[in-house]
Amino acid sequence: ADKKVEKWTYSTCGYCSTGCSIEIGTNQDGIPVSSRGVGGADVNQGKLCLKGIFEHELFESPGRGTTPLIRNDFHDPWQNSDWDDATAKMAAEIKRIQSTYGRDAFAIVSTGQILTEGFYTLGKLARGVIGTNNYDGNTTLCMASAVSGYKRSFGSDGPPGCYEDFEHTDCLIAWGSNLPEQHPIIYWRMKEAQEKRGFPLIVIDPRVTMLAQNADMHLAITPGTDVVLQNALMHVILAEGLEDTDYIKANTNGFEQLQKEVQNYDPISAAKICGIDEDTIRHVARLYAKAGAAMNIWTMGINQSTHGSDGVVGLNNLSLLTGNIGKPGGTSLSITGQCNAMGTREWSSCSGLPGYRALENKQDREEIGAFWNVDPEFFPKKRGMAQTDIFPAIETGAIKGLWLIGTNPMTSMPNTARIRKTLEKLECLVVQDSYQDVETIEYAHIFLPAAIWAEKEGCFTNTERRVNIVRKIKEPYANTKTDLHIFNEIAKQFERSEKMTFPYKPADVFEEMRHLSKGRLVDISGMTHDLIEKNRGIQWPYTEEQANNGEQPPQGGKRLYTEPATFRYADGLAKLIPLPFIDNNEIPDEQYPFWLNSGRLVEHFHTRTRTGKIGNNNKYSPTPFMEMNPDAAADLGILHQTYVRVVSRRSDAVVMVMLTQRVPRNMVFIPFHFFDCVNRLTLGLLDPHSRQPAFKQSAVRIEHI
Ligand code: SF4
Repeated sequence: ADKKVEKWTYSTCGYCSTGCSIEIGTNQDGIPVSSRGVGGADVNQGKLCLKGIFEHELFESPGRGTTPLIRNDFHDPWQNSDWDDATAKMAAEIKRIQSTYGRDAFAIVSTGQILTEGFYTLGKLARGVIGTNNYDGNTTLCMASAVSGYKRSFGSDGPPGCYEDFEHTDCLIAWGSNLPEQHPIIYWRMKEAQEKRGFPLIVIDPRVTMLAQNADMHLAITPGTDVVLQNALMHVILAEGLEDTDYIKANTNGFEQLQKEVQNYDPISAAKICGIDEDTIRHVARLYAKAGAAMNIWTMGINQSTHGSDGVVGLNNLSLLTGNIGKPGGTSLSITGQCNAMGTREWSSCSGLPGYRALENKQDREEIGAFWNVDPEFFPKKRGMAQTDIFPAIETGAIKGLWLIGTNPMTSMPNTARIRKTLEKLECLVVQDSYQDVETIEYAHIFLPAAIWAEKEGCFTNTERRVNIVRKIKEPYANTKTDLHIFNEIAKQFERSEKMTFPYKPADVFEEMRHLSKGRLVDISGMTHDLIEKNRGIQWPYTEEQANNGEQPPQGGKRLYTEPATFRYADGLAKLIPLPFIDNNEIPDEQYPFWLNSGRLVEHFHTRTRTGKIGNNNKYSPTPFMEMNPDAAADLGILHQTYVRVVSRRSDAVVMVMLTQRVPRNMVFIPFHFFDCVNRLTLGLLDPHSRQPAFKQSAVRIEHI
């Protein structure tokens, strides 16, 4: 194709939650040929990372689905279908399964990747039409602990801080977060701010990540001991009188119980559990508590744990004790994973109802029922299964049908050998994806080919609650359809939808969301698609009243809980929650002597359904590998770049060895992106609050092959 750009169109990157504004250049034939940053007040200020720079290549990448496919048995060859037949077959299967086994026997697992208008419509379809309570997102694999922790501490989900906090902070602690690889543009913003302000960057991570290499202090704690360290830091803060007493009195309850619990975590005993020295704990506690403003940020190192929710609450406890919520540079900020993990949390109804409404709340059910024209009694009164509980329920026969949307559990779930056997048991598996070669399609009966990212229009919400717009760059590929269109077509197959509205235009769907957001924490009633584009993203809340008063949308510095006692519990107070530590993970032993850790590479995203197809990403990182400490390798006679078998109690995987000091002697690290690799080995015990799996704490041994 002619590479000369005739037109640039504004959009938002569709990979990670940084939320970078992007422009896609199309040539005279309308073919996307280039990507560039936009500049100005956008979150990325004109920068893009490796994934964003080559995002235009996605549109024509290999493996795209072209037309709906159907078959009666997963052993049968696929037959080409059309949208009418495929959606009719799907609806017939849903009705058959629900009438035979009950409404909840058909489950839905969605994603953090599609546009918010699609999420909202899927929620309406799942909760108001199909009526299954077993509807969840793959965000259970990444952000569920953050959601749960925010709710427990503050009474609601919703990250209180923003990127501008980097420019005001006096101390930053990053817990299990490797920004340069996971969120490169957030890293760039943080680093720019650090160079100007000189605040200490402290990294807590068992592995020497790229962020740890650039830190002022690196605490390589024993995997899974973060809650012990948090308690020990609070022990020092309280013992030395460094807490913010006025803030605690005005904004929290539970102080006495917390104080009592952290007395058990003196630095000497905590240091032994965490594998670091006691003076380091005291030093970090003083640096953090004496800073004028201090931030905690975290990603999967905290969330993907059997006590991920407690780890988040622990960081919130630290922030509340020191008055570091709602002020510039003082926050507890979850760095989210997927481009629209926030959008699904806010609007998809996965674990509740739209606008952070709860199924458990009668008024919430009635409000949504009245607006959607659904009898509120049709809604369940409490949340159903999380994704990680849906798969075991397929094994026991409680779930017979499953619709997977933009997610690939054959690669992404822990213990994938078990997932493979589980999927075989389904009477109906529907896979909706932009790619026809996604691994999970092997067991599907219906394939719905979806338009990709900027072949559709709508919004994403990023890590700092900034709603930004994805404009359509080109028409959907071949016979693919937008997710919104697909959901509407499926809704039409059910009589129950006849009294409801299912708008096809994303801007009309956004109008419904605006209406439902009024007066909620997640108030977007002052926004429109056009205003969002004009401002290159607007952080919520931005109310209709503010817009009508001519108040300009905030430019990047919007925080939650800035006024006293404005948390979302009825009394306005945040909860300080004591966290007794129980280590219930698989830990290395004689038979399986290594910790197995996993994480992301800068070149790839999730299970490589996209980045594995783009030459400029895949050529830098085409194969899986395992980081191993050279001393541990020497003990076993293992050489650099040779292949070994890694064995866990679940299964085994063959990988190439990369000798590096990044990992300690008793740990190996394997990126999670590759099929039939690290997740064959992982155990994935679940957090009791969030149901998120502990991907990063399994035990393995290494064998020669
Ligand atoms: Fe896209 Fe994230 Fe890279 Fe920004 S940092 S360009 S949002 S992948």
